[in-house]
Amino acid sequence: MIVELIGKEAGLTFECIHVVPGRGDCSRMHPHFHYVNVLVDGEFDDKRRIVHLYNLKAIIKRICYTFEDKILVADYPEIIQRIAVEDSHYRIEINNKSYFIPEADVFKIKIPSLNIEDLTVYFADELAKDLKNSEMSNTLNYFEVVLSEGHGQRGKIRIDLK
Ligand SMILES: [Zn+2]
Repeated sequence: MIVELIGKEAGLTFECIHVVPGRGDCSRMHPHFHYVNVLVDGEFDDKRRIVHLYNLKAIIKRICYTFEDKILVADYPEIIQRIAVEDSHYRIEINNKSYFIPEADVFKIKIPSLNIEDLTVYFADELAKDLKNSEMSNTLNYFEVVLSEGHGQRGKIRIDLK
């Protein structure tokens, strides 16, 4: 049995800002309006459900909140991006420009790029950690995450829980 959460309808959304290596529009700091769809496959429990939807939504919202209104910074190689910490600020050099940003405004993610592929993997890994530590791991076989960055662009990944 499959149950799906549709991010736009379920409030599983977040807004964040980033700058990515390269030229053109994406080389400037710009926002994305993300939403997350999650599909779970599992077996019925004794309450005739495969997942506690309230708890599942709470987990996904918590992950969304870690991104909310933050400036995302990934672990690009030094040849692409240089980062120094000065007075509780990050000095970030990328695309021949310097940004000086308060640490509190930055979400520094341990992923190799801010491409939708790496963001989707990160989001799914975080969700997998929480699901494996919850009672939902008893009934669920696998889940899928669809992470949209707007503009009709999204990543999708399936994670097995068994
Ligand atoms: Zn972008």
